[in-house]
Amino acid sequence: MTLTIPFDNSYATLPAGFYTRLDPTPVKAPALVAFNRPLADELGIDTRDTDEADLTAIFSGNAVPEGAAPLAQLYAGHQFGGFSPQLGDGRAILLGEVIDRHGKRRDIQLKGSGPTPYSRMGDGRAWLGPVLREYVVSEAMHALGIPTTRALAAVTTGEPVFREEGGLPGAVLTRVAASHIRVGTFQVFLARRDLASLRRLFDYTRARHYPETETPAQLLRAVIARQARLIAAWEGVGFIHGVMNTDNTALSGETIDYGPCAFMDRFHPDTVFSSIDAHGRYAYSNQRNVIVWNLAQFATCLVPLHDDQDAAVEEMTRDIHAMPDLIARERRAAFGCKIGLAEAAPEDQPLIDELLALMTEGQADFTNTFRALADGDARDQVTDRAAFDAWAARWQARLETEEDPTATMRAANPWVIPRNHRIEQMIEAAVAGDLAPFERLMDALATPYEAQPAYADLTRPPTPSEVVQRTFCGT
Ligand code: AMP
Ligand code: MG
Repeated sequence: MTLTIPFDNSYATLPAGFYTRLDPTPVKAPALVAFNRPLADELGIDTRDTDEADLTAIFSGNAVPEGAAPLAQLYAGHQFGGFSPQLGDGRAILLGEVIDRHGKRRDIQLKGSGPTPYSRMGDGRAWLGPVLREYVVSEAMHALGIPTTRALAAVTTGEPVFREEGGLPGAVLTRVAASHIRVGTFQVFLARRDLASLRRLFDYTRARHYPETETPAQLLRAVIARQARLIAAWEGVGFIHGVMNTDNTALSGETIDYGPCAFMDRFHPDTVFSSIDAHGRYAYSNQRNVIVWNLAQFATCLVPLHDDQDAAVEEMTRDIHAMPDLIARERRAAFGCKIGLAEAAPEDQPLIDELLALMTEGQADFTNTFRALADGDARDQVTDRAAFDAWAARWQARLETEEDPTATMRAANPWVIPRNHRIEQMIEAAVAGDLAPFERLMDALATPYEAQPAYADLTRPPTPSEVVQRTFCGT
């Protein structure tokens, strides 16, 4: 084995009740689909003397690299509002952690690596479609400047997995995260009234992610701040996570667990993609409400850690109640930049809201309309031209006091995003053995704020027959 991963594992030193130690389940005929060399370099993984066979063996789970401490993590979670007292990594295995080149601790996790004690009815596997969707979308999010887990490798297993659609090519994704601690990781210990583990997890999380905080209430405030910014950033690029269960809310503030996620084409605040989200709980504009609910669950977990619990409840309740305003401010900042305002003030909010209303009414393409603002042809994207002209006159007047609104807009409005129909087309091709669309998408999305004429086709909204109505959760 010539691949050296400089592991420095900390989660494996936590009490045994936090996880189950086990190795990935080997697969029959692994083949490497993608490997993210720049990310490997960032993680301090030396691949100079590594051939493809080594990478394939390790990132399929067939070989456990030296220094790894493989384990499946325990957690619980509210799924669509209902509490599941025990979830856990049902198909993922944390190989271990490294300290990256910036001194940051990062998890390296295999997803789709076989059953664990937390698999419940599942097979512990993933198929190529969702693996490549997560690969492309998480890397695109990173390039867009939004906190996210990353994709290090994708491997096919040579084994079929069976889903509603039938037999599909199995695959394993290697995911890199600031950590995999979720709201649900706290919830499992609260549900068990295991105060010692709760305290231990608090200490660990605080030290790993928020060393500047001291008390549980301070930790909550820090998590609130990061999540508020994250949700505003999602909204700013038209992203819909799809399954914002509490087990899919990372305390690090990274976007995690890409399932039936998608970027909007036509703008409508009620847009839902996930086929399992019948009531729109995780619709685009409800994400800002759901995150408050999720962090209220987190706050509940922190109450028993305080000596004066009444005071803690009062303090944390105040912070939870303040969260909608905080998110509104983050949204104003994000959308302010999108219309060229480096620092949008409360008085600027109507300008933002009115444009979004025009876009909703005209079913305007979200990405292309904002991008067109800087090019002066956004008018073509909406239907009510007179209303747009009236808006644009006030907007232009407001821009007069801005130093370089065009630069502000170009830095905030991506030229290209991973459109859902392109992802579906890419998956279809990959299943048929053609990885060219995958590689082309990855190339285009590496610099999403730059106009790249060679990829103009990827900026086109879907034709009626290309529209993907639902993204299935059969992951
Ligand atoms: P997700 O919706 O992907 O966040 O998963 C929710 C829970 O179901 C987690 O505990 C997963 O580990 C588990 N899970 C999802 N798919 C599978 C599978 N194919 N096999 C075993 N567990 C799974
Ligand atoms: Mg999950």
